[in-house]
Amino acid sequence: MYGAYTVNDPIINLDRAGTIESPLDLIGNTPLIRLRSFERELSPGVELYAKAEWFNIGGSVKDRPALRIIEDAERDGRLTHDKILIDSTSGNTGIAYALICAVKGYQCEIVMPENASEERKRIIAAYGAKIIYTDPYEGSDGAIRYVRELVARNPEKYFYADQYNNPSNWRAHYDTTAPEVWDQTGGRVTHFVAGLGTTGTMTGTGRRLKELNPEVQLIGVEPDAPFHGLEGLKHLETAIVPGIYDASVIDKKVGVSTEDAYEAARQLARQEGILVGPSAGAALKAALDVARTLRHGVVVVLFPDSGTRYLSTELWRLQGPR
Ligand code: PMP
Repeated sequence: MYGAYTVNDPIINLDRAGTIESPLDLIGNTPLIRLRSFERELSPGVELYAKAEWFNIGGSVKDRPALRIIEDAERDGRLTHDKILIDSTSGNTGIAYALICAVKGYQCEIVMPENASEERKRIIAAYGAKIIYTDPYEGSDGAIRYVRELVARNPEKYFYADQYNNPSNWRAHYDTTAPEVWDQTGGRVTHFVAGLGTTGTMTGTGRRLKELNPEVQLIGVEPDAPFHGLEGLKHLETAIVPGIYDASVIDKKVGVSTEDAYEAARQLARQEGILVGPSAGAALKAALDVARTLRHGVVVVLFPDSGTRYLSTELWRLQGPR
């Protein structure tokens, strides 16, 4: 298990320096990075850490639930080699499924809105999965509706992974993300901040952290409007609400604008040398807003993926020098 380390520590300190038997062993146990430059504007009693989920082999937090969904289904016989794994995804879960299916020898089909980023489409195709595109104007809900109809017509052909309703999604975080955050902060975490998409990250991590310490505050982050540039996040008031969503787990839900999320991500890159995606920028903005109100606390914010996945988007349009 990793300890917390600062961005200046050499990567060689990580346990991962040893030999790896399977790429799937590189899922979970991600580092916690202290954000010292942001701490300077906070009360001296407040610590701020980021859970760096792009360290997973598939490059995002979604490796955790995808692996758990697949391995739970293998165990109880829902997934066998004569079936095709299928699901709808905004991209990161698709990448995770495609990579894990490549390792385990399953056929994989990913349903996504056509306007998903070019990087995502190419990565999924590189792992050998098939991509089915849906109407970009119908967003992720359109992809969900499409896959449901397809599976209903061919129930024998597919294993429908159904990340929005599959409890294996949140259980992955209950069993891995939460204990890691707990151990990495020495049980001192007071606030956990994460974006809401399928809500698996917050539902699973939050449930476990509350069991470990009922005082821990859970802050869920969503876009402040139905149409937004925060890939991976859902505006729950207007979207199909995921079956695994449990509103009672979360203490506070905050809406973040695309502009504020981009601004936070850009500041993070320039100040800390950490390049993240837009949903991580939104989570950082929300975490900073919470941290500013505290005199003491250990705030952990989860960064789902890296900015390299969004180089072709508006977030990383060429910036002038400082
Ligand atoms: N950010 C990104 C970039 C994502 O891909 C996802 C997954 N949809 C999330 C945030 C939200 O995570 P979750 O589905 O666990 O709520």
